[in-house]
Amino acid sequence: MSTAGHFIRCLAAVAWEAGKPLVMEEVEVAPPQKHEVRIKVHFTSLCHTDVCFWEAKGQTPLFPRILGHEAGGVVESVGEGVTDLQSGDHVLTIFTGECGNCRHCHSEESNMCDLLRINTDRGGMIHDGESRFSTNGKPIHHFLGTSTFSEFTVVHSGQVAKINPEAPLDKVCIVSCGLSTGLGATLNVAKPKRGQSVAVFGLGAVGLAAAEGARISGAGRIIGVDLNPNRFEEAKKFGVTEFVNPREHDKPVQQVITEMTDGGVDRSVECTGSVQAMIQAFECVHEGWGVAVLVGVPRQDDAFRTHPMNFLNERTLKGSFFGNYKPKTDIPGVVEKYMNKELDLDKFITHTVPFSKINEAFDYMSKGECIRCIIDMGA
Ligand code: NAD
Ligand code: ZN
Repeated sequence: MSTAGHFIRCLAAVAWEAGKPLVMEEVEVAPPQKHEVRIKVHFTSLCHTDVCFWEAKGQTPLFPRILGHEAGGVVESVGEGVTDLQSGDHVLTIFTGECGNCRHCHSEESNMCDLLRINTDRGGMIHDGESRFSTNGKPIHHFLGTSTFSEFTVVHSGQVAKINPEAPLDKVCIVSCGLSTGLGATLNVAKPKRGQSVAVFGLGAVGLAAAEGARISGAGRIIGVDLNPNRFEEAKKFGVTEFVNPREHDKPVQQVITEMTDGGVDRSVECTGSVQAMIQAFECVHEGWGVAVLVGVPRQDDAFRTHPMNFLNERTLKGSFFGNYKPKTDIPGVVEKYMNKELDLDKFITHTVPFSKINEAFDYMSKGECIRCIIDMGA
C-alpha cells in the first residue's frame, strides 16, 4: 500500500529542552511539498554538531526539535518538481545543499550554495517556512533541513545525494558530514603530493578523516597534533605516524614541528576550532610551498594573528567548508571510493546503538568515547 501523499505516523526522538534526554514520540510526518522528498531513514549517526545544538550553549535555542543530519535512507515519495529522485532511491542527507542554479553552484570552485547553505537557525522548510513534523497537533522544529532522528523525514531535494544502492547504509551514512569534511579538506584543498609530510591538528572524527585523506594521497609522514593523549592510540589506525602533544613541549608547537621536519611540513590541516591551533597550523608549514587549511569553527570573537612575513615567504592559508565537496555532484563519488576499497570507513565506527537507545550515543560523544556511533533505526 503506497503511503505517498498521506501523513505517516512513526517514531522520532524529540529534543524538548536543552541538554535533557531525547524523548521517543509518535509523530506525524506530512507529505513532501514542492522540491522536497520524504525519506525512510535506515541508519543515522551522531555528530558533534547535534550535541552542540542539543546543549544549545551559545546557539539559538529552538525546541522542540528533531536533531540529526548524518544519515542514509531510502526515498519513500517525492514532491512536486523533483525530477532527479524517485521512490526507492538510496540516498544520504546533507546539512548543506546544492540548488544547481546559483552563482556558487555554477562555479567549479565553490560549494557554498546561496539557497541551501547551512542555516542552523531555520526550524521550518524553505518552501513555506512550515514544519513537516507534529505531535498531537504541535509542530516540531527541523534541524539543518535534515532531522534524521526520525523514522521518516522530509528534506529539500537539493540536500539529498543519490548513491549506489549496493552501498551499505550502516557504513556510508557517516559520509554525510564529518568524514567528507576532513577527507575533502586534504584531498580537495591541501592536496598533498605523494611522499609529502602532512600535520593534522585535532584528532577527532574530522581530523582523523583528514589523516585518512593524507594516507590516500600517499603522504610520507602524517603528524598528529592533539592536547588529548588518549587520541593518539586510535590515530595510529588512521596512518598517523608521529604525535605531538603541545602540552609536552616548552617551545611553541610550530617550532617543534619545524625542527622535526627540517623547515616545516608540506601541508597542514587544522580540525580543532581553536584559533591558537589555526595560527600554529599556518606557521608550521614550509616556506616556499607550504599550504595550511583551516576547517575548525572558531569562536565569535576570535582573531587570527600572524606576521605578514609568513605569507611573503610563500606560505598559503586556505579554509574549507564541507571539504569543498558539492553535496549532490561529488558525494556519490566519495561513496564509490568506499565501494572500491580506496577509503576505509569501518575504523571510524566505534559504536552502534538501536534507535530506542539513542541517548546512549549522546553519552558516548559527550564523554569523548566514540569517533562515530551509528544509530540503527530498524533495531
Ligand atoms: P572533536 O571535538 O571530536 O575533535 C577536536 C580535537 O581537537 C579534540 O581531540 C581536541 O582535544 C583537539 N584540540 C582542541 N584544541 C586543540 C589545540 N589547541 N591543539 C591541538 N588539539 C586541540 O571535533 P570534530 O567533530 O572532529 O570537529 C573538529 C572541528 O571541525 C570543530 O571545530 C567542528 O566545528 C569543525 N567542523 C567544521 C566543518 C566545516 O565544514 N568547516 C564541518 C564539520 C565540523
Ligand atoms: Zn546553489
